Amino acid sequence: MGLLDGRVAVITGAGSGIGRAAAEALAKEGAAVFATDIDEAGLQVTASNISAAGGKVETLIQDVTDEALWDKVMDQAEATLGSPTILVNNAGIAIGGAIPEFSLDDWKTQMAVNVDSVFLGTRAAIRKMQSSGGSIVNISSVAGLRGAAGLSAYCASKGAVRLFTKAAAVECARAGWPIRVNSVHPGIIDTPIWQKSIGRLSEGMPVIPDVPEGANALDADTLGAQASPMGRPGRPDEVADLIVYLASDKSSYINGQEHVVDGAMTAGG
Ligand code: NAP
Repeated sequence: MGLLDGRVAVITGAGSGIGRAAAEALAKEGAAVFATDIDEAGLQVTASNISAAGGKVETLIQDVTDEALWDKVMDQAEATLGSPTILVNNAGIAIGGAIPEFSLDDWKTQMAVNVDSVFLGTRAAIRKMQSSGGSIVNISSVAGLRGAAGLSAYCASKGAVRLFTKAAAVECARAGWPIRVNSVHPGIIDTPIWQKSIGRLSEGMPVIPDVPEGANALDADTLGAQASPMGRPGRPDEVADLIVYLASDKSSYINGQEHVVDGAMTAGG
């Protein structure tokens, strides 16, 4: 018996990092997983892993900023696997850079991928789950709880995810729609994101204020060792376990809250 037997879960950004780990963990607990990503090759690896472990999975190439595609995602998930009752809004990018040099185009891209997508996904899910009920898990960040030099746009986007989540939770509950909405705030997690758009950070600009000068700001091991009192970055599966919990009925009275998984990074002064 899995925690999520009979459930259908839609998850974005499932072709890499936290999304892949979460897709695999949801499937392991019995959910049929509708996995999407813009990265087709990565998505196929995730799907193969789930299938090889005996799980049920369907995939769709999805750019989460494409409004029209969101209805297709929900409809196709329902047609192939059954009515979705779990949505994990996970896809995200990090565009770093000092404010004086930051372009409006980069700002808009950051907001589109990290914020517009969460609105579009949540709206599509609420429309689908209004009577059936469900759980929506939005992936924010510790950067949505406090500022970080060189990451102003990313922080703004993740802060928006945090409060949108709370507003959506209150709105659903007040309306009598049995849908819970929570946000997850990872610290430094060892995924490929550190080698991607964050590479746009200008030389010498620390990603996290606590990282001493000279540390390799693109190396999750170094960042995690410095930023977390536990002395290491988190693993994607350590975030996935929290996502599974929030998706399941084990968290049935937990709603509209921010859940930090950061190895005590933000616990100290
Ligand atoms: P990741 O390994 O880069 O995975 C993110 C996935 O999302 C990638 O497959 C990426 O594809 C995809 N994606 C990017 N833009 C997309 C779009 N427009 N539409 C659909 N998919 C898109 O990153 P991760 O570390 O697992 O991050 C997952 C989430 O956790 C993000 O929201 C991130 O902000 C958040 N987070 C991560 C950390 C961390 O330390 N890793 C910490 C806090 C929060 P491409 O490879 O083609 O870009």
